[in-house]
Amino acid sequence: MARSMRRIIVSRNSSRIFGWVLTLLGLAPIIVALLAAWTSGVSFLDLSALYDFLWANPFSIGFGIEFELIYVIVAGTVATIIGIFLLARKREEIEELTVVSDDLKVTLECTVCKYQWKEHFSKTQLNSMGFPQNRTISRRKCDICGRFTRPKITSI
Ligand SMILES: [Zn+2]
Repeated sequence: MARSMRRIIVSRNSSRIFGWVLTLLGLAPIIVALLAAWTSGVSFLDLSALYDFLWANPFSIGFGIEFELIYVIVAGTVATIIGIFLLARKREEIEELTVVSDDLKVTLECTVCKYQWKEHFSKTQLNSMGFPQNRTISRRKCDICGRFTRPKITSI
């Protein structure tokens, strides 16, 4: 139980960091490209002029490698969308995992015939029964020997 909770927290942190990094890496070149257009006197409202500017102006990333600004915008947009998608998607997954991990598969043993079977209990249910100090559950009829017993929790 403790281990699965920790794994969820770790995966949430790393995927959120990855999502933020992608989003920021995507937004930064878009802002740089738009600022370059703005300082060159291109109006953002004049879309065709902006489009021409983005095609006409190369962006150097060093080592003599240059891209037209339009590619920088496209790559930045893709990275931003993936980043936002990761940030949104992982949050849903965490909620789902938390619900699943609350439901525990418990091995029960009949105190009369020692027959073992598995049942699902929620963590809250186990806590309210006083587990782990109290390892027996409420009285029920055993499927195998037909006796009424208080089955014992042997493992989780
Ligand atoms: Zn039994």
